[in-house]
Amino acid sequence: MHCRAAYGKQRGRRMEQQEERSDRTSERRGQTGRASESESSWGMGECGPRIYSCSNCRCHVAQHDDIISKSFTGRNGRAYLFQNVVNVLVGPKEDRQLITGLHTVADIQCTECQEVLGWKYERAYDEAQKYKEGKYILEKAKVMKEDW
Ligand SMILES: [Zn+2]
Repeated sequence: MHCRAAYGKQRGRRMEQQEERSDRTSERRGQTGRASESESSWGMGECGPRIYSCSNCRCHVAQHDDIISKSFTGRNGRAYLFQNVVNVLVGPKEDRQLITGLHTVADIQCTECQEVLGWKYERAYDEAQKYKEGKYILEKAKVMKEDW
């Protein structure tokens, strides 16, 4: 529970969040001291927030737990489908013909640096693609893992 809370939406609290997080980490591994953090916690269901940031300005934009699929393709290669993102501006809607058919999408931009990071699926015309409505694509090339 408390781990969710550490992932705030307020941009100004970034530094503070990181401190809180590393405090908890060192508590957890009090006895080992020098364990490698990301390797040992990867995929083990720990709830520490694994954050994706804008690769341009490092503003937090999403968390790993919200990934629905990693097998999407963006403009510049691999892209991830997210349930939820933060700190983005959703642009005007437009119809776009994608590999999987016609969709209404809106570009999403980092609020901090205005970099276009991906897009939001507003509407899918094909029944089989409906699950993407309201979800977000972040291009892998535009985001980075924050400290994990
Ligand atoms: Zn940015």
